[in-house]
Amino acid sequence: MANQTILFIEDEKNIAELVKYNLEQEGFRVLIASKGPAGLEMALKERPALVLLDLMLPEMSGLEICQTLKQNEKTRLIPIIMLTAKGTESDKVVGLELGADDYITKPFSPRELVARIKAVLRRSQGKPAEEILKSGTIELDVTKHELRLKGKPVEITAKEFELLGLLMNSKRRVLTREVLLSKVWGYENFMNIETRTVDMHIGQLRKKLGKEAERIVTVKSVGYRFDGE
Ligand code: CA
Repeated sequence: MANQTILFIEDEKNIAELVKYNLEQEGFRVLIASKGPAGLEMALKERPALVLLDLMLPEMSGLEICQTLKQNEKTRLIPIIMLTAKGTESDKVVGLELGADDYITKPFSPRELVARIKAVLRRSQGKPAEEILKSGTIELDVTKHELRLKGKPVEITAKEFELLGLLMNSKRRVLTREVLLSKVWGYENFMNIETRTVDMHIGQLRKKLGKEAERIVTVKSVGYRFDGE
């Protein structure tokens, strides 16, 4: 487990330094972000082995950060351990529902924290490291963020990739334009973007899929469905 990167999102400097010191003693590489947005940026760029997330943060709450990490294809497989203050039972429950892997209550002993981190890493690394969605000759390689047709890489934009990923993950179920819009473009942009944006991107995506395009079925006045085995 040595040399693995742990990202710690925590605004209290003394706690951040203490944890960093203890984890470095164990051979981990530790990155610290004191605010959510910077932490999210680091998670995307560095792809840490694990995110240690304090829930009480300025600007963006730990729960929001957790949700954002779990919604992004690039970061959703990274395990998260939340740090919660005593008596915030509901945060803990919400955090676990949002996909956090474990939590630890403040104050904690560094030794306990190290043990928990190692346990979560062992668990998460028992799972397959790569994830590829397949249908016919389509391979959507979530790990590499790559679309392949008959084994050959096809250029695809980030939005098209997310759209195809959502559709392939919901085979034979209709996804409405509104759902696709909110998941791919995010709630914050919801007011500024129209549902026909989805149609435009689906159109582009179909062109890139060639013969396999027919798998994306238009469900009149509702949305789209992916037909695949
Ligand atoms: Ca804090």
